[in-house]
Amino acid sequence: MAERSVPTSEKLSHFTSIKFGFSTRNGGVSPVPLGMNLSFNVGDDKVNVVHNRRLFFGALGISSQQVAVPLQCHSATVHIASQPGEYTECDGLLTSVPQVALAISVADCVPIFIFDPHKSVVAAVHSGWKGTVRRIVTNAIGRMIGEYGSQPTDLVAFIGPSAGVCCYEVGSEVAMQMDPSVVQNKDGKTFVNLKHANKNHLTEMGVVENNIEVSSYCTICSPELFHSYRRDRNASGRMMGVIMIH
Ligand SMILES: [Zn+2]
Repeated sequence: MAERSVPTSEKLSHFTSIKFGFSTRNGGVSPVPLGMNLSFNVGDDKVNVVHNRRLFFGALGISSQQVAVPLQCHSATVHIASQPGEYTECDGLLTSVPQVALAISVADCVPIFIFDPHKSVVAAVHSGWKGTVRRIVTNAIGRMIGEYGSQPTDLVAFIGPSAGVCCYEVGSEVAMQMDPSVVQNKDGKTFVNLKHANKNHLTEMGVVENNIEVSSYCTICSPELFHSYRRDRNASGRMMGVIMIH
């Protein structure tokens, strides 16, 4: 189990010019079952969340004051974060500014982290089923191209721990909005592969398949490691992933 205990990105870890980390539910100070909860919006004590964020970011050598976070709303909007702080009405951030860390909060939704080592740009994207249907990751790549002159073939992407097709059952109203290639029917139930849907959006934009890493972790069926909103509903905390140029 040791090799499955740290949900990091092998591809992003090759680059010494960025810092990247993804939290689990373990190691925090919030009362069980929240543990390492990094969200202010799940009923956790704010003091605990501040402490947990300091622990998680601090382990990566990042200060909480360096972090930019989108106040996620299942949109397809991606903003440029030239400084730390909260960004309203968006679900993705881009920056080329060193020491500005981009963080995404999730518990089943798909977190996507992108690095352009040539233009030195990072992106962090939150893509649940609505963000997937709205193609937020397509927008993120489009903005990297438009704002920074990124070449899609240079980009390296990590699709992080999130709801897996093993567990992510949906109703027909969701399935019908997905590309049929990511919908699976099993025992009269319908499942969606959100990770692959987002991977397809990346490759459609020209990102090279070999430069995309897809986490094998499913948050729903890994209760020892991850918060899951689908599994625990209102008792669920949130993980964070964070990426920063330094
Ligand atoms: Zn699963």
